[in-house]
Amino acid sequence: MLDVLTSPLMLRALIAAAVTGLAAPTVGTYLVQRRLSLLGDGIGHICVTGVALGLLTGTSPTFTAVVVAVLGALLIEAIRTSGKATADVALALLFYGGIAGGLVLISLAGNGVFALQGYLFGSITAISWSDVTVSVLLAAVIMVLSVFLLPQLFAVANDEDFARTTGIPVRLYTTLISVLAAVSVSIAMRTVGLLLVSALMIIPVATAQQFARSFRLTMLAATVLGVLAALIGVTTTAFVDAPPGPMIVLVALAGFAITAPIGLVVQRRRKVMVPFADGDPLATPVEEPHQHEHGPGCGHTAVEHGDHVDYIHDGHRHAVHGGHYDEH
Ligand SMILES: [Zn+2]
Ligand SMILES: [Zn+2]
Ligand SMILES: [Zn+2]
Repeated sequence: MLDVLTSPLMLRALIAAAVTGLAAPTVGTYLVQRRLSLLGDGIGHICVTGVALGLLTGTSPTFTAVVVAVLGALLIEAIRTSGKATADVALALLFYGGIAGGLVLISLAGNGVFALQGYLFGSITAISWSDVTVSVLLAAVIMVLSVFLLPQLFAVANDEDFARTTGIPVRLYTTLISVLAAVSVSIAMRTVGLLLVSALMIIPVATAQQFARSFRLTMLAATVLGVLAALIGVTTTAFVDAPPGPMIVLVALAGFAITAPIGLVVQRRRKVMVPFADGDPLATPVEEPHQHEHGPGCGHTAVEHGDHVDYIHDGHRHAVHGGHYDEH
């Protein structure tokens, strides 16, 4: 049993799972904040066509999946922001077209639908060293952008209209979030599978949200939970003959189910402890320590807000007010 766990096959699967568990919930935190929890699912549907194109043309399905996923994400973003009443239906057509088109293309490639199984539910035997390398590189790009652009990405994910009034290029950042989602779907395809990829983007975030009070803490906790679920899920497949995707998702769901009762108690207590809001719900004083005074050139993104300037950091907008900072 131990040689299974230390085999190169398992090692590749564990590395791929770890980077998936890191990247998927990171982007997922932005999606949940944007109330677009099912975006990853839609991109996963479109990716079926991407995989089919790879199998049909003999190129790497991972490569064609990334290309098709990013194009799909740009299309989704364009449809969504068109503001048309039919946008919802247009998205549904796009997602079903992605699955149906992919299935037909795969049959044309002569592989049969069986070839698709590893991409739909994940398959640790299908992961090569080049897959691992690509996954690690793409995950690194996702993490760097997600962490360094956190103030801007949080601002647009939290409230697009408000972010627009502060002069942030909203369209650029919402598109970036969608593209990051597309890339993490392509990474997760090999371990979690396209059908369940969205689960790994959302469930760890839902679990973390029960306890974490700030956006940044939610993201941090969700990545820890995501990595744990991915590693435990993949390890389990050494003992249970099942694809890794469903295993990872079941572990993540178990984490949510186990912590849900504790989460309820924590939330109830928090409600009791919160003092009465003094009139303006937009301006709650914050106790959080500041190592420096915000000001021009302090390193934080400054945005004009009415007659004053707010500084964005750690998922908050802070404005100086008397001797303390208000959260705006
Ligand atoms: Zn500052
Ligand atoms: Zn303000
Ligand atoms: Zn501050």
